[in-house]
Amino acid sequence: MAIDISLEREPSCLIVGAGIAGLMAARELSRKGIQVLVLDKARGVGGRMATRRFEDAVFDHGTQYFTSSSPWFQARIAEWIDDGITEEWFRIRTYEMDARFVSAARYRGKPAMTSIPKLLATGLNVQAGDRVTRLWSENNCWHVSTEQGLHHSASTCILTPPVPQTLELLAASEIEIESSMEEALMDLVYEPCLTLLAICEATPTLPEDGVLEFERGNLRRIMDNQRKGISPDVPAITIHATGAFSTIHFSTDDETVVRLLLEETLPIIRCGVRSWQLHRWRYSQILTPHPASFLQLYDRPTLAVAGDAFGVNGVEGAARSGMEAANMILRSFS
Ligand SMILES: Cc1cc2nc3c(=O)[nH]c(=O)nc-3n(C[C@H](O)[C@H](O)[C@H](O)COP(=O)(O)OP(=O)(O)OC[C@H]3O[C@@H](n4cnc5c(N)ncnc54)[C@H](O)[C@@H]3O)c2cc1C
Repeated sequence: MAIDISLEREPSCLIVGAGIAGLMAARELSRKGIQVLVLDKARGVGGRMATRRFEDAVFDHGTQYFTSSSPWFQARIAEWIDDGITEEWFRIRTYEMDARFVSAARYRGKPAMTSIPKLLATGLNVQAGDRVTRLWSENNCWHVSTEQGLHHSASTCILTPPVPQTLELLAASEIEIESSMEEALMDLVYEPCLTLLAICEATPTLPEDGVLEFERGNLRRIMDNQRKGISPDVPAITIHATGAFSTIHFSTDDETVVRLLLEETLPIIRCGVRSWQLHRWRYSQILTPHPASFLQLYDRPTLAVAGDAFGVNGVEGAARSGMEAANMILRSFS
């Protein structure tokens, strides 16, 4: 049973969001002896690093892979490979101006994307399935209340939901922030992504590594979860629509969206679809991240916002942002 947790007497941190940003922050703080409580509204951890089962098939339905552009993240990936939760999936080859071919690895979770957040969450104090609805500061501590009526407090706090959801939480809590910071946060725009999970009647015609990316049309990519090894027994594909299609059709009814996406998909995969589910990611990826790796909204008690909207885009940026926010919190205690 969930209990109210008050960490206010210790150097401690409340982290809203158990995606990669929140979990990286939580691990770093715990490693340094700080008491941490991570809260997430979803039933499990991982946020957009998501895997879902429906009927007899399994799908990665948020991010499909991630890249690395820094030695720091490459070192994290090497650790995850050693832990057996990540592997290189495929490589993109590009031709550079200085007449070299450059190949960049795409990494996947092993066996599925949620393996990474699940391992990162091991040993952490995570309470999932309860939305934080209000945040306030009192007695030099941050306090939150949740949909289920719980109350938690700690001496610092990091907010890692997609920025529009963080802004909603701040507004509902009547927390005012410096206008330049508020404007910067309001300028951060995410692309939606309509995602179709489809169970196929036979093995789809797709490349051997199971991924097909598009430059034109309404499809961004099709991924084969069976070839990826996530859905070993059942042919199952994940179809991501483009940002433009997803924006136009975000509120269109399911049947129409699915018909439009399958009209383009079926001639490619050359097999039928026996059942499907449509998922609407309102915030899939940030278009232009904020240049800072996190923002500190308040000092004493310290409040920061972090996540993939800061620094570098995607999983790498979110992980880095969580880590940098944690380091700032550590400095605030010393
Ligand atoms: C369809 C799709 C395709 C993508 N493709 C790629 C790609 O190719 N490469 C790449 O690197 N990245 C990709 N991404 C983006 C990548 O998944 C994200 O950048 C990264 O996972 C973000 O991590 P995060 O921790 O910042 O946020 P999230 O994973 O969104 O975590 C935030 C968490 O906060 C929780 N939360 C929100 N509000 C509250 C509240 N009030 N109370 C409690 N909890 C709350 C949410 O439930 C969520 O778990 C893709 C994402 C999607 C959806």
